[in-house]
Amino acid sequence: LDLRSEDLQTLSELGAGNGGTVSRVMHLPTKSIMARKVIHIDAQPAVRKQILRELQIMHDCNHPNIVSFYGAFLHESEISYCMEIMDVGSLDGICAKNGAFPMDVIGLITVSVLKGLNYLYTNHKIVHRDLKPSNILINSAGLVKICDFGVSGQLVNSIANTFVGTSNYMSPERIRGWNYGVQSDVWSLGITLMELALGRFPLDAECKSLTILELLQHIVNEPLPTLPRRDFPEDFCNFVDICLTKSVDQRPSPDNLAQHPYYLRAEREKVDMEHWVSHLVK
Ligand code: ATP
Ligand code: MG
Repeated sequence: LDLRSEDLQTLSELGAGNGGTVSRVMHLPTKSIMARKVIHIDAQPAVRKQILRELQIMHDCNHPNIVSFYGAFLHESEISYCMEIMDVGSLDGICAKNGAFPMDVIGLITVSVLKGLNYLYTNHKIVHRDLKPSNILINSAGLVKICDFGVSGQLVNSIANTFVGTSNYMSPERIRGWNYGVQSDVWSLGITLMELALGRFPLDAECKSLTILELLQHIVNEPLPTLPRRDFPEDFCNFVDICLTKSVDQRPSPDNLAQHPYYLRAEREKVDMEHWVSHLVK
């Protein structure tokens, strides 16, 4: 499929993040609906072309828990890529309108995200780098998939250079500017799961009045909150706690987590996602 800007008709806006904006579009020649992400980057044309080349790796990333990639192109000095539309949207939006997630749904999300991360890492040596609720998407079939992973080193650099690349879901080693590995994605998963369970960003209570720099400092230096044991099952609380191990060397890898009792229990559980999804406040 050779995607061109002229062939895409914008139907609606889906949202905007630090890196760009996403809209629902129709690919006119095939009449198919896609999500198009447009990224503005102040970079030399050569750098943009390199990003475009690097994004092509996404064509090889095929897995039930990875959002499908249709293609990338340059248009008027902006980079666009088109992907599978996930019609229920991202976890941040669902959480904002519906509050905390039910435990069985969190279990399915945990298993889906870890399968996606494990696939990217074992098959393509790709570390996600930006795992958070807005990059975990659900469709009306009840499937959970991850998107916006760091396939393009040059894109990651270009966004990082603008500082907006920082996020509340960054691990202590990332904040310190140390090496980034799969374990850093595990940290982000831990914060994300805690947020879904509580229905709010877990560090907000004690960090309400902090600036972003103070929040990042807090993540590096202060003990993290743990989930209240009376409200959540012990295996889940333990799973989240070990994801939030401050020292990278002691933090589990996604592979290790797939052996955890909570993961094994969640993997066995049957969850009627289609039903849950159909009753959400949109
Ligand atoms: P950041 O730029 O920091 O990654 P973000 O993930 O919120 O933040 P975008 O990646 O630009 O920003 O996405 C904006 C919104 O578009 C997301 O919050 C999500 O709800 C929606 N979105 C992104 N991709 C898709 C998709 N494939 N299908 C449906 N909605 C999507
Ligand atoms: Mg995103």
